[in-house]
Amino acid sequence: MTTQTPQKMEFQAEVKQLLNLVIHSLYSHKEIFLRELISNSSDAIDKARFESLTSIELLGDDATFKIRISADKDAGILRISDNGIGMTREELIQNIGTIASSGTKKFLEQLSGDQKKDMSLIGQFGVGFYSVFMVADKVVLTTKRLGADAPAMRWESSGDGSYTLEEADKLGRGTELEIHLKEDEKEFLDDWKIQSIVRKYSEYIAYPIALTDKDGKEEVLNAKPPLWRRSKSDITKEQYHEFYKHIAHDEEDPLAYSHNQVEGAVEYTSLLYIPAKAPFDLYQPERKHGLSLYVKRVFIMNDCKELLPTYLRFVRGIVDSEDLPLNVSRELLQKNAVIQKIHQATTKKVLNLLETLAREDAEKYAAFWKEFGTVIKEGFHMNWENLDELKRLVRFESSKLAADHYQSLQDYVVGMKDGQKDIYYITAESRKSAEGSPHLEVFRKKDIEVLYLVDPIDEWMIQSLSDFDGKKLVNAAKGDLDLGDLSKDEKKHQKEAQSEYKKFMKDFEEKMSDTLKEVRVTTRLAESPCCLVSGEEELGANLERILKMTNQKVKESKRTLELNPDHPIIKKLHDIYEAEPANPKLPDWYRVLVDQALLAEGSPIPEPASYVSKVNGFLAEMLGK
Ligand code: ADP
Repeated sequence: MTTQTPQKMEFQAEVKQLLNLVIHSLYSHKEIFLRELISNSSDAIDKARFESLTSIELLGDDATFKIRISADKDAGILRISDNGIGMTREELIQNIGTIASSGTKKFLEQLSGDQKKDMSLIGQFGVGFYSVFMVADKVVLTTKRLGADAPAMRWESSGDGSYTLEEADKLGRGTELEIHLKEDEKEFLDDWKIQSIVRKYSEYIAYPIALTDKDGKEEVLNAKPPLWRRSKSDITKEQYHEFYKHIAHDEEDPLAYSHNQVEGAVEYTSLLYIPAKAPFDLYQPERKHGLSLYVKRVFIMNDCKELLPTYLRFVRGIVDSEDLPLNVSRELLQKNAVIQKIHQATTKKVLNLLETLAREDAEKYAAFWKEFGTVIKEGFHMNWENLDELKRLVRFESSKLAADHYQSLQDYVVGMKDGQKDIYYITAESRKSAEGSPHLEVFRKKDIEVLYLVDPIDEWMIQSLSDFDGKKLVNAAKGDLDLGDLSKDEKKHQKEAQSEYKKFMKDFEEKMSDTLKEVRVTTRLAESPCCLVSGEEELGANLERILKMTNQKVKESKRTLELNPDHPIIKKLHDIYEAEPANPKLPDWYRVLVDQALLAEGSPIPEPASYVSKVNGFLAEMLGK
């Protein structure tokens, strides 16, 4: 017996805030506390099992892993214990007294007071243990670490600001929870209640969960093999969904899943899920991958990056291999041929699953795309092997669709005009700025669809997306636009204007040679007097803007100004030039037109003050000074 007095410790401020929330704000689905605790026990056993793979003697004579539940109705206490890894004093303080994850602050910020949302966040942020205080007014946790000589520890708290710690007497490894239920939560002591909760949430836990009745008789509540090992025809959709919610800590059903029991050269089972919502940290560098690796049903590791490419890191699920050695390490995985085969096949499976979703349920796929489209686009740069699949999965906003609707390349091609050879797109900061771009005038006039690439990553993606179905993807704001047969008449007119305006354009070019490479006549415009275009090989205005925003050095390229020969301003300027080539006002007019072309495409102008003063001068003149 230890004689040490309990030491009182304060919870970290974030934990206090959480506990407060758990105790005072979350009322629905209180039963999930049991799921969370069983899941912790299962994780703890996974870890013990893993550590003992290399030194089986660590387990002593307690080699049968088990989670035990018992209810003491008289005392109002529910007990849950496991013979998992247990915790040392330091681990206990670290794991249960604090929240280490940097996501916590974000979590607390995101809390909305909306219970359903907050509950699902609780799962995502891994604060499951604290849910026990929804039903308990006191919790005693006794734990002993596997293999360590350190003493067993007893932790006790009422869920207020503090807890106590002291050494304890506990012989075997693992963790035991004594849950003192609140007066009005005593229903969790009923056998049938416990049975039904365990069956609902935890039947696929890989270790036996045994309920001991008042006579000491044990009943295993989850006698079946783990879900992914059962025959597909024996599993209902609800069971698949429930399993997903368990592994992903998600309250929402997945959008789609795929269960594959593969036999042959490489033998494995995979169960893959597409979540409905992106996790908050999807784009953070430390974002974990969503697949867990098992070998012959034994849990090996979470966050197994070797099973799928990074751009599919949002996929959740498990892979259970028959061929890998049980003591496989992360280092070994990277070079392992079996893993590489599984990686390839699993990648294909996910992409096919998404394609099927897109084909069968466009609305769901649009929801998927909104959440995960940007991540999928990362794939274009990393995944030459699956480029064809990715091209069929990619979606864009489009001049033919309302905002937040997405066009596929397949459908774009179906809707192409007779005589249209290429697929047109424009890159811009936003849909609004794409819509306002003068570069699209001719497309609108000719009713040709233009895809809007308004996600910053699109600039990089498009470099690997040069063609689809034998058609080139062409930037509507770059190069000398050629709409082929669709602009035959305009081309003729362009040629005539080109020679008529020759001298005038030369003058424009010379006077603006600090910014312009060339001035030429275009068929691109219908309403605007002029616009700027970049060469095929140049960055383009949008990419320049993005690079500058990220503080990268950009070599500014001179651009080409294209004139609309039928626009009254251009015609008039031409007349003035013809009548008086040395007119001193010409340079100012030229400059203002170039500045306006910049503004129209959403680019900044080099000297706003000088622009404003020039335009004010024109206004004053017009208004009669
Ligand atoms: P999560 O399980 O999502 O990490 P929890 O708040 O439920 O969050 O648990 C915090 C940590 O406490 C766990 O990550 C684990 O390290 C430790 N823990 C909880 N329950 C047990 C247990 N039964 N055995 C060993 N460690 C546990």
